Amino acid sequence: MSASNLSVLNALADNTHKQDKLFPAIFVGHGSPMNAIEDIEFSLKWKELGRSLPKPEAIICISAHWETQGTKVTTMPRPKTIHDFYGFPQKLFDMQYPAEGNPVFAEQTIKTIKSTIATPDLEWGLDHGTWSVLCRMYPKADIPVIQLSLDSKKSPAQHYEIGKELKELRKRHIMIIGSGNIVHNLRMLNMQDKAYDWATEFDAISAKLISEKNHNKLIDYNSIGISAKQAIPTNEHYLPLLYILGMQDNKDNISFFNEKISMGSISMRSLIISN
Ligand code: ZN
Repeated sequence: MSASNLSVLNALADNTHKQDKLFPAIFVGHGSPMNAIEDIEFSLKWKELGRSLPKPEAIICISAHWETQGTKVTTMPRPKTIHDFYGFPQKLFDMQYPAEGNPVFAEQTIKTIKSTIATPDLEWGLDHGTWSVLCRMYPKADIPVIQLSLDSKKSPAQHYEIGKELKELRKRHIMIIGSGNIVHNLRMLNMQDKAYDWATEFDAISAKLISEKNHNKLIDYNSIGISAKQAIPTNEHYLPLLYILGMQDNKDNISFFNEKISMGSISMRSLIISN
């Protein structure tokens, strides 16, 4: 075989490989909105990720802070920055994350979802589950961002199923981010930053199940026991994890980061799936 034939074959093989390769997807434990403006270990890690990961053409964020009736996708060209919190410094309310939306891509995302009827939304924007992380990862706000809502009527298995369908978009240089917290019990917050035993326990159990790809148990988290009930008093911060697990491929590696319990009852554990 001539050298030129060989190089064509190599190029084809390389191309095939590229098409098979899926874009990384991330579950981020976002924690306090202050992470947007304070340089602490969690936000510094987000900064580093923005520099080290390949730059996506668009971002879809499934945020704990957008619960709706039915599944919705933001389709406006210029999503507003939503300050969906209170009792924080003015500096946080002054924050803007002026990333554009992408109506065409939003419509494609709606069509990708088959297990339910997803509908366009022109009212929402970017809530702090999205922008508090993205303002660190991509401070220039130069990547279009759309949000996908959490339908509060759906079961964990149905959320996982939508995640499975979105996997298709990982073939297209799209970064999908689930933003929540695996352990999230605001009523039990403590300022001593000492993790409760049940928080440590559920965080460790979930990490083990994620590593073992035991998704059924993670979907049926209530069967895990008392620690799950304390870690997930309401499930909106947990559900974004199920979307990311749903879009996991057999070839994906899992890497954890920010593996720490913050303020006693918030797990910042985050993960990247990539191949
Ligand atoms: Zn939150």
